[in-house]
Amino acid sequence: MSSIKIIIKNPERIDVLVNKKRSLPANYIPTDLVNIEVLHKVEKAESKMLRKEAAAALTELFVVAKLGGFEFWAISGFRSYDRQLYLFKEYAKKHGEEKANRFSARPGQSEHQTGLTMDVSIPSLDYKLVEKLGETPEGKWLAYNAHIYGFIIRYPKGTEHITGYQYEPWHIRYLGKNLARKVFESKLTYDEYYSRFFGV
Ligand SMILES: [Zn+2]
Repeated sequence: MSSIKIIIKNPERIDVLVNKKRSLPANYIPTDLVNIEVLHKVEKAESKMLRKEAAAALTELFVVAKLGGFEFWAISGFRSYDRQLYLFKEYAKKHGEEKANRFSARPGQSEHQTGLTMDVSIPSLDYKLVEKLGETPEGKWLAYNAHIYGFIIRYPKGTEHITGYQYEPWHIRYLGKNLARKVFESKLTYDEYYSRFFGV
């Protein structure tokens, strides 16, 4: 990816694109964070939060999934800049900076700071965030239906060269129902969709 870096000017937009070229301001915290009201295994108080609109959509997604026999659990939602800074430093210490950057974002570059992203898992995977989720009935259901509730799989399989992140079937990003459907139908990553239709 190019080394040109942009600090995002309107981080509160629901359609905001955050990636390794577009960082959120360090002081950005959404003003409408609320606690999620779904099954969860979240330890940190802040990770239990999403922006109001995304939290309501997550409830809808989980309720409908459960009716179909698919039980999701929320694992990690909002993450502040400072928490991401801490986590990235820890991962870099353990794995080296380059490797850490494939699975963990640098501070400001995490979608979790938008309050529009949730990592989800399932009981049969022991609530872990693993690639295998994509092969389970739950993971498949999520990949095909999340957009109906306004979410996309942000880092699809085989797109690491575009998104900069390895496949993460657990990481869902809220875009609103209309845009999520368009992105799903385009079969593009959000990075590609955004540059094609919004321009970067
Ligand atoms: Zn995530």
